[in-house]
Amino acid sequence: MVLERGEVANSWRSQRWDSFRLLTPNWQSRLPGLGYDGPDPDGYMTIGEVTAFMERFAAHTRAPVRTRTDVTSVRPTGDGYRVTTNDGEIDCRTVVIASGACNLPAVPPFSAAVPPEIEQITPYDYREPGQLPEGGVLVVGASATGVQLAAELRRSGRPVIMSVGEHVRLPRTYRGRDVLWWMDAAGVWDQRYDEVDDLTRARRLPSPQLVGTPERETLDLNALTAMGVELVGRWAAVRDGRALFSGGLRNVFSLADLKMERLLDGFDEWAKETGVDAEVGPPERFAPTTVPAKARLQLDLRGGEIRTIVWATGFRPDYSWLDVPVVDEKGHLRHDGGVVDSPGLYALGLPVLRRRKSTFIHGIEPDAREVIGHLAGHLAARR
Ligand SMILES: Cc1cc2nc3c(=O)[nH]c(=O)nc-3n(C[C@H](O)[C@H](O)[C@H](O)COP(=O)(O)OP(=O)(O)OC[C@H]3O[C@@H](n4cnc5c(N)ncnc54)[C@H](O)[C@@H]3O)c2cc1C
Repeated sequence: MVLERGEVANSWRSQRWDSFRLLTPNWQSRLPGLGYDGPDPDGYMTIGEVTAFMERFAAHTRAPVRTRTDVTSVRPTGDGYRVTTNDGEIDCRTVVIASGACNLPAVPPFSAAVPPEIEQITPYDYREPGQLPEGGVLVVGASATGVQLAAELRRSGRPVIMSVGEHVRLPRTYRGRDVLWWMDAAGVWDQRYDEVDDLTRARRLPSPQLVGTPERETLDLNALTAMGVELVGRWAAVRDGRALFSGGLRNVFSLADLKMERLLDGFDEWAKETGVDAEVGPPERFAPTTVPAKARLQLDLRGGEIRTIVWATGFRPDYSWLDVPVVDEKGHLRHDGGVVDSPGLYALGLPVLRRRKSTFIHGIEPDAREVIGHLAGHLAARR
């Protein structure tokens, strides 16, 4: 059985802002036996469309879902696990933890030192610009969520400052095709976890600076600068009511530019080798990220320039309900490709679980097949 504390597609319904669209194109929204069959394969789903897609999948598979069932504890019983919910207890031989990698926003501890007159909000509480007090906004984090919210807030007419740390820059389209088409076709998404050089780092990689819009716009830092967003360095500390930002934006920008160039070089090589060259546009190269003439290193949080901080600093899983000693000191599950360090316990949907695409909708199928293969073996051995 499948236990879900909310409704089907709960995270999409309850944890996304109003204008949200997937950054993966429609043709890529595929689950086992159900692909996109609408009129716009290259478009990007709205929240309503993603929710409808997930509901269709639940109906199509006739998965035995128990909604509004909150798991409050899972503990070992010797030959399996006892799962406690708000609706009683269930004994089972195996458990698959598919509770997601992004249950809680990750906000740095120094947020506690931010003066109380400043409103602080996370992407999970943000819905639309009108919800924030009038005045300037500091968006912290320059990955997919941060760039999307900074652009929306700037378009609403507010002054926006964005604090930028390590990030992944990507153009929306390359040589006439969606950049995620290239990732898919060239096999980047399929790279396996046991082939990745630094798995810990790969699992911590921020999401790419991408947005899904009907215009297929590229939303990198140059686009934000052109809109009037002010860029500052990584937020390092709060001292005496001042935000202190790291210097060295030039290095941070050139590293992201370099990594993007390398990826595009790889696409070009692959296109040449496979003959795809003839079907796509000519190779493109993009202007380096413009470094602001004078990036400020401090911001007086009491000065009234900023009224709101949006923490787009990533998300983390929540295993507070898991009473099995398999979570490390950093709050991550100890597992090998989804086989958790406790017999009969499995995980799905975590970053680079078995492949680079493990946390994307289109990435779940091959991971699930392998993990469930192991689970079936575990049950058979017990028999
Ligand atoms: C901001 C953001 C944007 C994203 N954009 C894209 C995108 O464009 N394309 C894409 O492919 N992927 C995207 N993703 C990733 C996408 O969310 C994942 O692919 C997908 O949600 C993973 O599905 P999941 O079912 O593993 O996890 P989730 O969607 O997180 O689902 C986990 C479910 O478990 C439930 N749950 C958790 N704890 C408990 C408990 N104790 N008891 C009962 N139920 C519980 C939750 O209610 C939730 O419904 C995005 C993620 C985020 C955070």
